[in-house]
Amino acid sequence: MADTSLMDKLVSLCKRRGFVFQSSEIYGGLGSVWDYGPLGVELKKNVKDRWWNAMVHARDDIEGLDAAILMHPKVWEASGHVAGFTDPLVDCRQCKNRFRADDPKIKGTPGQPDAQCPVCGTRGSLTEPRMFNLMFRTFMGPVEDSAAVVYLRPETAQGIYVNYLNVLQSSRQRIPFGIAQIGKAFRNEITPGNFIFRTREFEQMEMQFFVEPGTDAEWFERWREWRMSWHHSLGLTPAKLQWHQHAGSELAHYAKAAFDVQYQFPFGWQEIEGIHNRGDFDLGRHQEYSGKKLEYFDQAQNRRYLPYIVETSAGADRVTLTLLVDAYREEEVEGETRVVLGLHPAVAPIKTGVFPLVKKDGMPELATTLYQDLRKQFSCFYDDSGAIGRRYRRMDEAGTPFGVTVDGESTANQTVTVRHRDSMQQDRVAIAQVPSYLSERLSALR
Ligand code: ATP
Repeated sequence: MADTSLMDKLVSLCKRRGFVFQSSEIYGGLGSVWDYGPLGVELKKNVKDRWWNAMVHARDDIEGLDAAILMHPKVWEASGHVAGFTDPLVDCRQCKNRFRADDPKIKGTPGQPDAQCPVCGTRGSLTEPRMFNLMFRTFMGPVEDSAAVVYLRPETAQGIYVNYLNVLQSSRQRIPFGIAQIGKAFRNEITPGNFIFRTREFEQMEMQFFVEPGTDAEWFERWREWRMSWHHSLGLTPAKLQWHQHAGSELAHYAKAAFDVQYQFPFGWQEIEGIHNRGDFDLGRHQEYSGKKLEYFDQAQNRRYLPYIVETSAGADRVTLTLLVDAYREEEVEGETRVVLGLHPAVAPIKTGVFPLVKKDGMPELATTLYQDLRKQFSCFYDDSGAIGRRYRRMDEAGTPFGVTVDGESTANQTVTVRHRDSMQQDRVAIAQVPSYLSERLSALR
């Protein structure tokens, strides 16, 4: 299967099955903004729940937070985003398209007569690069002047830094401890694309871990290990995950060390999560700009210090895309192509389908009773329309790991078949045993 065609097939499956739709599609769409449909919202929610469980519920040393998207504009001065969150941009005077100055498709040097527009091919039509801030701006209150400018946050992390003392004091945590948050972020990306990989509105799952200076390198290594095993726990193909270390010029000015978790997408190895040792840059800057002391008092050592921060920053949409790409496969079954999303059962939007073989002979009644029983425990889907083979295929495309079918034997001997998505093997199971049969298999795979 050609790599580009895999992305095209995935985009089409996502629309067909209700995972992801283009935003405002009836108006022609909005550039690099996407909406999650009934199955997509479940899949992404499962990713976020799994992250929240691993980071907040399963640990004593991390607290949750949900900070607002709008923040005091000084936050973005302190963070460096007003001055530095920029990309160099060039315009084509001829066709009015806009590119990043370092776009490899541009031949020659933008601003010079030899430079050629990659879209219309005109020479000398590209402007000199100018810096473009990626933050979305809007105005707070009725007057649209510079004093009223606020930004849509380009990352969730700043909401954590400015609340660090509030959380510390109200939760009675001690260093080392962390704050975790899931929320929307916005970036006016110049060259977005690759479906939901790089979008202008997205969700981040970020955790900032506050440590004593000098212990940061050790915590950094621990977090690297924990975060990589979390990605493995999603069932992603291990050979398609790797570390990428930021070195030299790639390293942000504030970072002491940075590693990305990368996945091998059809369009190349790309970052899905970043782990950064940020030192005391963030708290130091907020202390300076706000004039408020943000030091921690270590009672045991009777000393004050500004904690260092180890950050883990993942994109919920990117991880969702990674799961979809990793799960997509096509198989030949009896001369037909079967499309399967081999999603890990823990993240699958629907855990089981329930089907009466035909709409008569008491089968729908039995299937409905079983469906009502199962849905108390799992997300289920009831389907009685079309040939049973087509119903199985629809569930295969949705990534549903099990399918329970009520057939002619069921009314006679109170048994059903349970079909396994990956092997297509069918087991005969007593109706009363179905909930425990499924829950055992689902929990074994957690
Ligand atoms: P990139 O180099 O891909 O632009 P970045 O280094 O700017 O990413 P960070 O600022 O470290 O990314 O953001 C942390 C995570 O947030 C990324 O690993 C990614 O999963 C997610 N993310 C960042 N920008 C976007 C975007 N435009 N669309 C979707 N997810 C994003």
